[in-house]
Amino acid sequence: MPSPLSEGPKPVEITRANQHDIKIRWKDGREVVYPARFLRMECPCAVCVDELTGRRTLKESSVPPDVHPNGIERVGRYAIQIYWSDGHTTGLYTWERLRDLIDKIPGG
Ligand SMILES: [Zn+2]
Repeated sequence: MPSPLSEGPKPVEITRANQHDIKIRWKDGREVVYPARFLRMECPCAVCVDELTGRRTLKESSVPPDVHPNGIERVGRYAIQIYWSDGHTTGLYTWERLRDLIDKIPGG
């Protein structure tokens, strides 16, 4: 069984675009800036999304406007974990998800 994790795009560099936003340079040369609050709102963890229905339970109003990563940690070879300034740390952002999110970035 081929592993889906061995396929597809991978980041070569994960940095800060500025004080808040995250910038990822992908292996295919694409550079993408992910606005911090946008990423926070797209957190895929079980606290933010109902696992049974897939419905987002996280409310816009519960996330501070200036939310930003206090830390970014790589998880294995497939994801990053973001330590948000609002105390939320349970979301894993896989490469696959981060690629999917490119199309949803506001104004991008
Ligand atoms: Zn979450």
